[in-house]
Amino acid sequence: MTELKIVTLPDEVLRTKARPVTKFDDDLQTLIDDMIATMRAASGVGLAAPQIGRSIQLAVIETLPKSDEAGNDIPGSRELFVIANPRIVWESREVVDGVEGCLSIPGYVGEVERAYAVRVRAQDRRGNPIKLRLKGWTARIFQHEIDHLNGVLYIDKLTDRENFWTDEEYYEMRQAEAEAEDTEEDVEETAAPENRD
Ligand SMILES: [Zn+2]
Repeated sequence: MTELKIVTLPDEVLRTKARPVTKFDDDLQTLIDDMIATMRAASGVGLAAPQIGRSIQLAVIETLPKSDEAGNDIPGSRELFVIANPRIVWESREVVDGVEGCLSIPGYVGEVERAYAVRVRAQDRRGNPIKLRLKGWTARIFQHEIDHLNGVLYIDKLTDRENFWTDEEYYEMRQAEAEAEDTEEDVEETAAPENRD
């Protein structure tokens, strides 16, 4: 398997509507395997063909691992999807805000509103029709990748222009939030004994 070069903004291919996949031949199988290797090497959870410079409706997605009650990752709980010619055929009215990054926009993250759940029709790597029901982070990843196939990027959909940060800014913000929560807990702990008489 070959790791492919990930294209970044302002490459025009990221802004181009991709063509449908029509041939599910050996070349496509090789491309899919290379995309999976590239996604994993980049620690990504999804990669769309335009991101490696191929303007075709193809994406690979690997979900985040599920965690047990103690919060530890369950080995083997990641799920890998290969989707060709995907269409979102239904989306929930319920929406959720979440922070996304993109391998084609390195060094930044931003907050985006997405449907909480979606239903997708697509073809698998051999061209067989598939129907998927997705929710939560998996649904978010699918929406992000399918946007790529239409030349749309998450930065087009920010909840607010200000909700866009460098990785460092976002990390510092999260640290500050965590520290603020710790302080609140300390206050409660200190206050508690006085209430116990
Ligand atoms: Zn992306």
